[in-house]
This record gives sequence, structure tokens and C-alpha cells, in this order.
Amino acid sequence: MHYNNERVFRDSWPTFKEAGRRTGVYLSGTAPETASDSTQAFSLMIASGRISDIVLGQREDMNKYGVEGAFLPLDDLIEKHAPNIKKLFNERPGLKKQIAASDGNIYYLPYIFHGKASTGWFIRKDWLDKFGLDYPKTVDELYNTYKTFLEKDANGNGLRDEVPFFTRDNNFNVEMLYPLFGMIKEFQVDENGNVYYTPYEEKYKSVISSIAKWYSEGLIDREIFTRGSNARDILLGDNVGGSTHDWFSSTGQFNDKLKDQIPDFSFQPFLPPINVDGVSVEEGSRVEAQTRGWGISKDNKNVIETIKYFDFWYSDEGILLNSFGIEGVHYDMVDGNPIFRDEIIHGSEATNLIKWKNGFHLDIGTIMHPDDEKQWTNEIAQKGIDKYNNSNVIANQFPPLSFTPDEEKIINERFAAIDTLKRETIMKWVMGREDIEASFTAFRKALEKMGIQEVISAYDSAYKRYISQ
Ligand code: CA
Repeated sequence: MHYNNERVFRDSWPTFKEAGRRTGVYLSGTAPETASDSTQAFSLMIASGRISDIVLGQREDMNKYGVEGAFLPLDDLIEKHAPNIKKLFNERPGLKKQIAASDGNIYYLPYIFHGKASTGWFIRKDWLDKFGLDYPKTVDELYNTYKTFLEKDANGNGLRDEVPFFTRDNNFNVEMLYPLFGMIKEFQVDENGNVYYTPYEEKYKSVISSIAKWYSEGLIDREIFTRGSNARDILLGDNVGGSTHDWFSSTGQFNDKLKDQIPDFSFQPFLPPINVDGVSVEEGSRVEAQTRGWGISKDNKNVIETIKYFDFWYSDEGILLNSFGIEGVHYDMVDGNPIFRDEIIHGSEATNLIKWKNGFHLDIGTIMHPDDEKQWTNEIAQKGIDKYNNSNVIANQFPPLSFTPDEEKIINERFAAIDTLKRETIMKWVMGREDIEASFTAFRKALEKMGIQEVISAYDSAYKRYISQ
């Protein structure tokens, strides 16, 4: 186990000793603690030919090497020896498809999340109040609100310095705004069940034109393409940022961080404004299954014991053990609910770090406990999460596809150049350096020349396979 470039299995973890007492199976880590690159650590293990009995890896790797024979297909083993996993697959019929490799087999078992909401819209509620405005309910109201922030000096310093919309998303920057104008970024599925690529669609012209208009009027951060990951710290900290779209938990925390610095600072979540097509759409969603998990190597001599051990972690006690640690040590049962001990939530280090050091809350094959996040998520963030989970706004996610080697080859050979062209063109259009109307057809032709249709076909066949599994 080696993930996030630092998470290496430690034999000393109390949770895995506890799991050993309950199952009779004790694990010891084989990944080098000194390695600082998880991808490389995995590749080195595969190249060495000495594959550990249990391997935790990324979905693509587990499936790729599974199909090639490095890992065992788990389907029959689950059927015969793993009642909890079987139950999980029955309860969540879409799950198997998300995990399965291109040959239809399951080679790894992932961490399963609870609840869909992950990202959402935030706005300065104290600024809305200042102008007697409600949360913007439509894209037009959002536009007018942003205008008001900018033109009526929302921060009251006498300068026209407000940045109505900003994002710290380096990768997709203005693409975060697509849902307001009726599209979702990258690859999607149309009403006939065919895959398309958003920037290659005819409708895309109106989407990107609207964004360019907002940008030209100063409603979008002038530096959105270069601002980078500290956007929230800088723009909220300087009392100029008005609104963003980001992860609930980390964004909600700015209310605590800035409360002494900016009087009345209130950064609140609100539902996605109804878009130009008349619907409220949240594009972001937590995937049902983490994109990594553990599997059984072809060299494992204790296959049945291992699948039973995997099954333990999907049982109620396994779920509790990974989410909360050990009763009486990390949490107490109060009225039938697990409650973290104070030293976990308010200890000398961050909660995540304390959990890591004690070996729980890991990305092993198990399920998130429904109460897991509630005790350490900021109250404002939790309000947003509940609001989004309880309204029907979260879009269906484009599924995680498993490509055949041929499909993968097409995508690897062509998509990087397509993606670069897309980024450069969006920047030119949004910043007004190139006329959208005049250059849109040429852009589509360039995409065709670079093989966009072949790439879409590769995605489409992988998607059709996914659907039929
Ligand atoms: Ca101002």
C-alpha cells in the first residue's frame, strides 16, 4: 500500500491489530516507506515480478494488470465467500460497473463513499444583506448580483476592486461556469446514449460566448487562468472575492478563518442558480467508489482467507473500525452512536493526521460510516452538503470507463494535443483576443484534424461496454 505519495502501510497501526484479533489475519506492509512517489512504487513492484499478496492501487493499474494476469478476478470468490460484499453489490446495482475492468471482471475492491454532494456554490451573504438581496436563484439573478457587488462597492472601501466570481481550480477555471449556460465540461452522454465532447458541440459557442461576456464586464476574476490554488486565501482574505464554486468542507472553513479579520464575514453555500435551460445543475459529485482499492495477487497462497478478510472490512464492525478506530481509545458509544474522543477532533494535530497515524480512515475496501464526517465538518459546510444532497440538483456523473488497449492507444496519442488546443482557445476567446463567431468553425475543424472523432468513438465504445455490463 502506497498512495497519495505518502500513505504507506504501517505494521504498528492499532486498527489493523484489532482487525487481526477479530479475523485471525494480520498484515504487514511491503511498500518502501522511503519512496515518495506512489505511481513509481507501484510500477517498481510490478516490474520486479514480486507482487505482494494484497495490493492497494489505482483503479486503472489494478484493472490493467488484472486483465494481464497479475491480480485474481474476484467475482467468484465474492459469490462464495464474501456475504457483506455481495450484499453491497446487490444494494448498489451501479457499483460493479464502476469497478469492472474491460474484460468485465472485478480485480479490486474500493472505499465506498456516503452521500453525493462534494462541491457547490458559495457567496458573501453579508454582501447580499448589505444590498437587501436574496441568494441568486437564476443565472440572470446571479449576473445582476455580481454586477451589484462590483458596481456598488460591496466591500465599502471606495474602490472598484471586487472580484465577483473566482475559482482556485487551475485545471478547469472558467469551465466551472458551464452548468449555468446549459453544458457540462469534457466528455458527456447525450439523450440518445451517445458520448460527445463538450467543446466540439455546436451549442458550445453560446456557452463560451456568455462566459466571455461576463469576463469582459469584470464579473469573473481577471486572473482566473493564472490565479491558482490560493485563490480563496488571497481573494477572500483581501475582502474582495464575492463568490466561488468549490468543495464544501474546505470552503466553509473560511468562515472560521476570517471571522476576526473581516467583521460580519459570512460565506454561505447556495443551490446552483437555475440555468439558461431552466434547470438547476450541480456538476460536481463525489464518486460512489474511490478510484483506488485493494486486490489479491496471483501469488497469494491464502486466497480464501484474504477474500474473507476483505469481507470483514465491509461488515458493520469493519466499517466502524475504519471510520472511527477503536472503541474506548478513539471513540465512545453514546446512545448507540459512535462519538470521537476529544483528542481526535481537537488534538494537537489535524484530525486527518491523527487518524492516519492510528491507521484508520484509510482508502482500503470498506464503506464510509454515515456519521463519519458530521463530527468534524464545519457547520456551514454541512448545511451546504445537506442542502445539495436533499435537492435533486446533482447531475449524473460521466462514469469511470475502462478502456481496451486499442482505445487507450487512440486516446493517449491524440487527446493531449486536443486538450492543449482547447485550453489555448478558451483563453483567447474569454480574454477577448479572438472573435468567437469568426473562429468557432475553424476550431471545430482543427479538432477534427487532430482526431477528436476517433477519441469520441473510443470513449463511446467503452461507454457502451460499461452500460451493457
Ligand atoms: Ca470596493
